[in-house]
Amino acid sequence: MTHEEWESLCDGCARCCLHKLEDEDDGRMFYTKAACGQLDINSCRCKNYQQRQTLVPDCIQLSIDNAHYFDWLPSTCAYRLLAEGEPLPEWHPLVTGDPESVHKAGISVRHIAQSEEDIDDLTEAVISLSHEPDFNA
Ligand code: SF4
Ligand code: SF4
Repeated sequence: MTHEEWESLCDGCARCCLHKLEDEDDGRMFYTKAACGQLDINSCRCKNYQQRQTLVPDCIQLSIDNAHYFDWLPSTCAYRLLAEGEPLPEWHPLVTGDPESVHKAGISVRHIAQSEEDIDDLTEAVISLSHEPDFNA
């Protein structure tokens, strides 16, 4: 797979750009609606994609070699689905040919994310991410 093909697998949902909390007792991961400060919430794109790991040291550059990180990716993430041998979902832009389809299906964080600067307490910002498309989102 070429670099371009690998990058094209990303559906643009930006779910991975939400801050997460981990339960220290049992390791469960919880997503919050607090978005990384580098995320353009409306477009769901990183504002500084090329410099992201310098600006945000814990931003992970996904590759086949770090598949151990895939467990905490959302279950809808194409990289996780690929690693688990699952097909791309029907709303994925590579399937629909429409980059907006991830937003139209309500999978992206466009309508749920908030700037991290506006959230004081992450424990009060925990959300549940739907696995199913919501075409009314
Ligand atoms: S969760 Fe996966 S598919 Fe969605 S933006 Fe992140 S890397 Fe791309
Ligand atoms: S630096 Fe960019 S790609 Fe990384 S988590 Fe933040 S918004 Fe997402």
